[in-house]
Amino acid sequence: MILRRLASAIRHQNWSQIIIEILIVVIGIFLGLQLQAAYEERQERAQEQAYLERMHAELVNVEDAFEDYRGQYVMYTNRFSELLEAISISVNDIELDENHCRTIANSHIYIETAISLPTMTELISSGRLSTVSDQGLREAIANYLIEDDRGDQVLTGFYSDRLELSSKYPELIAYDFGGDYNSFQGTVDFTCDFQAMRNSRPFKNDLLMNARRMRAFNSGEINEVEMIFSIHDQVDLILGITHEK
Ligand SMILES: [Zn+2]
Repeated sequence: MILRRLASAIRHQNWSQIIIEILIVVIGIFLGLQLQAAYEERQERAQEQAYLERMHAELVNVEDAFEDYRGQYVMYTNRFSELLEAISISVNDIELDENHCRTIANSHIYIETAISLPTMTELISSGRLSTVSDQGLREAIANYLIEDDRGDQVLTGFYSDRLELSSKYPELIAYDFGGDYNSFQGTVDFTCDFQAMRNSRPFKNDLLMNARRMRAFNSGEINEVEMIFSIHDQVDLILGITHEK
């Protein structure tokens, strides 16, 4: 219709008609593009909302699970501090017991916080982090991922350097397995010769190195989860969610 009118205007060299017809076409295309952009923007915001809601549920799960881990990290830090005082510098008023012995025997085992954030991983791996419109949140996610990556590298080093002290010092740490394999529940009792430990310089050196690695690992885990807390705070602000603290 427009093309026919335009062709006829060109044939009759009706310039004002030509300009009006061209303007109608241009304005039509412009409006169409605007509508398309508005539609796409709406779609993107709906998708962002869905991502944030999924991410929120995952963040809440990580934090709930972390409360148990935090208690363990604090407990191990306290035990190591008592151990190092009692064994390395022989502070005599610290009573060492089977819990301290178990801590020594397990000082090469790291308890990793179960962190599962599939929505965040999906946003990154699919290159869709830009769907998140809030710049602060995007930065918090990127910083967390950098820290997570750094933590993984540190952990790889710890795993290769850590020492299983009960293998290296069997005369100082003995397994006591209880004797009945059928009723064995997976817990092993250890017996430690604390006095002999105090007299062994190599053992004290190795214990201190395991303790240092364990402390660095635990504080790294706490730091990582605190970054997750701050991501959660930002998601709460965007979604308008409040929690009872
Ligand atoms: Zn929340």
